[in-house]
Amino acid sequence: MSREDEPVEKIYEGGCHCGGVRFRVMTDLTGILDCNCSICTKKGFLHLIVAPEKFELLTDPEALTTYTFNTGVAKHTFCRTCGMHPFYTPRSHPDMVDVNARCLEGIDLAGLTITPYDGQDWEKAREDLG
Ligand SMILES: [Zn+2]
Repeated sequence: MSREDEPVEKIYEGGCHCGGVRFRVMTDLTGILDCNCSICTKKGFLHLIVAPEKFELLTDPEALTTYTFNTGVAKHTFCRTCGMHPFYTPRSHPDMVDVNARCLEGIDLAGLTITPYDGQDWEKAREDLG
């Protein structure tokens, strides 16, 4: 009976560069996706999708502003001061929060499993994900 290999949920904090946007998230750091779509490629966003009850915004929501394009379902929120994208509402999971793993503190990204996501062929990749 070893539970050592099972991922454990912990609380992590993260935020934007200037500190205007801070959040807390409960996650086991599994299922991180690296999407190759037009916007994620340029941002370098690493997706960690969590349920809203596992996410808490610690700072004033007014620090965020929103960019939308194409279907408008995804709400690309970002810090209006420093321009970082610490989290947003993804088109694939509009009821969830998509945290940028690069904006989490105290994690070793190199030690985590990061799965490529074919966002260039969005409809197909969505089906593959189930
Ligand atoms: Zn900022």
